Amino acid sequence: MAINLDWENLGFSYRNLPFRYIARFKDGKWSAGELTGDNQLHISESSPALHYGQQGFEGLKAYRTKDGSIQLFRPDQNAARLQNTARRLCMAEVPTEMFIDAVKQVVKANEDFVPPYGTGATLYLRPLLIGVGDVIGVKPADEYIFTVFAMPVGSYFKGGLAPSKFVISRDYDRAAPLGTGGAKVGGNYAASLQAEVGAKASGYADAIYLDPSTHTKIEEVGAANFFGITADNEFITPLSPSILPSITKYSLLYLAEHRLGLKAIEGEVYAKDLGKFVEAGACGTAAIISPIGRIDDGEDSYIFHSETEVGPTVKRLYDELVGIQFGDVEAPEGWIVKVD
Ligand SMILES: *Cc1c(COP(=O)(O)O)cnc(C)c1O
Repeated sequence: MAINLDWENLGFSYRNLPFRYIARFKDGKWSAGELTGDNQLHISESSPALHYGQQGFEGLKAYRTKDGSIQLFRPDQNAARLQNTARRLCMAEVPTEMFIDAVKQVVKANEDFVPPYGTGATLYLRPLLIGVGDVIGVKPADEYIFTVFAMPVGSYFKGGLAPSKFVISRDYDRAAPLGTGGAKVGGNYAASLQAEVGAKASGYADAIYLDPSTHTKIEEVGAANFFGITADNEFITPLSPSILPSITKYSLLYLAEHRLGLKAIEGEVYAKDLGKFVEAGACGTAAIISPIGRIDDGEDSYIFHSETEVGPTVKRLYDELVGIQFGDVEAPEGWIVKVD
């Protein structure tokens, strides 16, 4: 390995790596994508992505295994979700084969930056689809850019498997009932920044959002989905069209049932019933699984297992998921794609 970084203390920050992939959609078709060293995008000042938020993105990781090879975790699911996002925002879709090929090219070209096995660090990939071109009226763009860039990262929430503390946002929603909450778009994040900044200023890892129609049900954490474990060995995660459908969450639903023997349920989770959970966690590609030690909701406070130590079931879920991602535990059919 040619590069020597402080792999164990990477955090989650941008790094300008040697190569990224870029393809352009024009006159109804995608150009042949190519790798470039240029980390600046050259786009029209009137691009709909800039003015009207016509853009979507993805996040996935490349993992170094014990034998030194590199693998991806369910990239077909990221491709399908970006297609869903594209349809919701009237953007050109990126075919699955093109998406996975782009990701593989970027991993291979930046191979020296894929962290060594055993450090817990990974190469984070950020596919991005934006509407560009000379359009100033409100309408979908005719031209699009699809790019994939990468950077080595550690965990997203400081502390890794140490539990974090969250606060329920009662002043702001991240999405509307029939809005774009289920699509991975920047607009949802723009709408959440005030709540997040406020939560962090008050010492929390992030805000937790409620359902935007009734403000009684847990939806999700800023960039991660919520799950809780009951004393009866149920794994429960909220179901709502305004939650971003996390690939990690659907993977955990499967593993909870088929590998850990829990009862896996996607259903309603009322904020006032949070006390029924003996353990809780936030899950996503960037967060992996971050144990939730405590949730504050106005005057109410809920503690899950412990504020300082991960609970046994969350730990088992973490070991199973991360074991599969790094190639130490056998994966369900089709979950792992080798980069060779
Ligand atoms: C990306 C994202 C997640 C996590 O999804 P994964 O597919 O597990 O990475 C959760 N919530 C929001 C709002 C997201 O944007």
